[in-house]
Amino acid sequence: MQKKALVCGAGGFIGGHLVNRLKEEGYWVRGVDLKENEYGNGNADEFIVGDLRDAGLVSEVVSDDIDEIYQLAADMGGAGFVFTGENDAAIMHNSALINLNVLEEAKKKGIKKIFYSSSACMYPEYNQLDPDNPKCSEDSAYPAAPDSEYGWEKLFSERLYLTYQRNHGIEVRVARFHNIFGPLGTWEGGREKAPAAVCRKVALVPDGGEIEIWGDGKQTRSFLIVHECVDGIRRLMESDFMGPVNIGSEEMISINDFAKMVIGISGKSISIKNIKGPTGVRGRNSDNTLIKEKLSWAPSQPLKIGVEETYNWIVDQIEKKQKLESKTLSVA
Ligand code: NAD
Repeated sequence: MQKKALVCGAGGFIGGHLVNRLKEEGYWVRGVDLKENEYGNGNADEFIVGDLRDAGLVSEVVSDDIDEIYQLAADMGGAGFVFTGENDAAIMHNSALINLNVLEEAKKKGIKKIFYSSSACMYPEYNQLDPDNPKCSEDSAYPAAPDSEYGWEKLFSERLYLTYQRNHGIEVRVARFHNIFGPLGTWEGGREKAPAAVCRKVALVPDGGEIEIWGDGKQTRSFLIVHECVDGIRRLMESDFMGPVNIGSEEMISINDFAKMVIGISGKSISIKNIKGPTGVRGRNSDNTLIKEKLSWAPSQPLKIGVEETYNWIVDQIEKKQKLESKTLSVA
């Protein structure tokens, strides 16, 4: 029989890709989000625009014929959103409420399986002070000391999901994503993350120009292309491993080197100016020992391939936007 999935956060970046993947696999899919997917990346059979902080709405969308829930909705953004402090209350309140509502309704409706997207931001800051040697193995989560309220909420919610398996028998699967990027993601507006922001800056600057990079540029990260992330979600869901488990790339790179990679792809000659800005931890990299052991799989695509795909997509978006703006101007 055809399986039915509910994707919470289907209007978002990873949620949109996940909807498409589930459709390819033959699922019937209901998507729910505050907004429709802005890049039309939503092939859901049914899409409900609604607020998951509202328990009434959650009771409507979590119907008892749903086989699997994928909970990706969260109030989130890149460093410019998470680390300024201005959005802390909203981040904690909104995302916790979504998770509380969805889980409670899943219990009431007897839903069998639920996926939750946590984040590498829950790892303790004290293990990520050395940019060349960060520690992010799953068992290094405690004593907890995330560097943002976003990370604290993720840690709380991970634990919340695990309690619903322990006390109510719902099968949960928890993944800790490490910097997911790719086409159809937010690339402007303040909530975009580093890879998209760097691609946009490089795409917009003329040959011979300069781009600004937050921090000294020596901070390190690893970035995972969204297609492999979705692959990991599905593999985890099909496995009998509850998690939490890292879904990330082990190809660590400094932000300045990442910017140089994008500049190389653009074919332009651009210089980098490091300026003050919110950066988060000094170093972070996925540790894929556990995922390899439990799923006999780990992401493997070289970073550069995903960056090329993303850069070209952002160039396309900029061109489309500029065409639209010049049309509007000529009509006016
Ligand atoms: P995204 O912002 O594109 O998607 C999140 C979606 O949730 C958005 O479309 C938003 O409208 C929706 N949402 C927020 N509040 C809502 C509400 N009250 N009701 C209904 N919908 C609501 O982000 P994403 O990059 O696709 O991330 C998906 C999940 O993965 C999030 O939980 C995020 O915390 C987690 N994650 C992402 C990354 C990453 O690098 N992208 C890394 C770690 C964890």
